[in-house]
Amino acid sequence: MEKVLEVKDLHVTFSTYGGEVKAVRGVTFDLHRGETLAIVGESGCGKSVTSQSIMRLIPSPPGRIASGSVLFKGKDLTKIKEREMRTIRGSDISMIFQDPMTALNPTLTVGKQLVEGIIQHNGSTQQAAKKKALEMLTLVGIPDPEIRFKNYPHEFSGGMRQRIVIAMALVCEPEVLIADEPTTALDVTIQAQILDLFKDIQKKTNVSIILITHDLGVVAQVADRVAVMYAGKIVEAGTRRDIFYKPQHPYTKGLLQSVPRLDLDGADLIPIIGSPPDLFSPPVGCPFTARCDYAMEVCDRAYPFKTHLTNEHHVDCWLQDERAQKMLASIK
Ligand code: SF4
Ligand code: MG
Repeated sequence: MEKVLEVKDLHVTFSTYGGEVKAVRGVTFDLHRGETLAIVGESGCGKSVTSQSIMRLIPSPPGRIASGSVLFKGKDLTKIKEREMRTIRGSDISMIFQDPMTALNPTLTVGKQLVEGIIQHNGSTQQAAKKKALEMLTLVGIPDPEIRFKNYPHEFSGGMRQRIVIAMALVCEPEVLIADEPTTALDVTIQAQILDLFKDIQKKTNVSIILITHDLGVVAQVADRVAVMYAGKIVEAGTRRDIFYKPQHPYTKGLLQSVPRLDLDGADLIPIIGSPPDLFSPPVGCPFTARCDYAMEVCDRAYPFKTHLTNEHHVDCWLQDERAQKMLASIK
């Protein structure tokens, strides 16, 4: 499958008075055309920082892409000039955030905002832009678009506002859409509608989607592939089937046991005890050691190698790695 985006060994740090926080520590993944990749993990695991780094939207300072690359159409986005990045943002890669109000201007009608976005993007005439804006509103399922065109953001419900934000993100026909917790602020029914909308739009436009979420229910509904992040690293990645039916990392298993599942009716929910490590001075070994029921001596001493279980499915865990004993012997 064609790769649209390649993130390679990305490291992102934040300087604070207390020292340097290593928020993203060597993240690598590909995004293919027309797929949805979900990046999941608890808050603070680095998933939002990863997505903001792709867009070069981390506040700098204090944030900094310390090393690694983000390849988009052969260009390393970490290296290009801000001016060039600005043309890529919104036109090739768009982003949607949790709170739709932050993306909309409350003082302008949604029609005007869409039209301005379109004109800015491709310099089309007012008339052509309006036609396109109405098409977009129809695409995202806004009823009576001709009438709603003249409404202000506050005249829409939360779910409808998020649809408009999605329309705004799509006016420039981006190749990549990054959605950071796009349904977290919405109730479950509306959430399901928005997720259906993503799938629908993807079918029509073949856009590649990176979905950032802490919610495995959301992942189950839309993701083709899943990357599980913990303490700034992707600790396991695979197809949706791999992650839900054959999880290998104890953290992934823990996540799955801590959320209700329709297919395991009545199974007890088991929270993951403890908290992630301090990222000022992350452990040299596996960052999950302190919370892991299977931790061995080697886990404390060295970070596990990546073990490839299949082409798609890989995991960073000593349990899966025959080299664990050898490694322990070599550092003892
Ligand atoms: Fe647990 Fe060790 Fe695997 Fe880390 S490497 S998840 S501590 S078994
Ligand atoms: Mg976040």
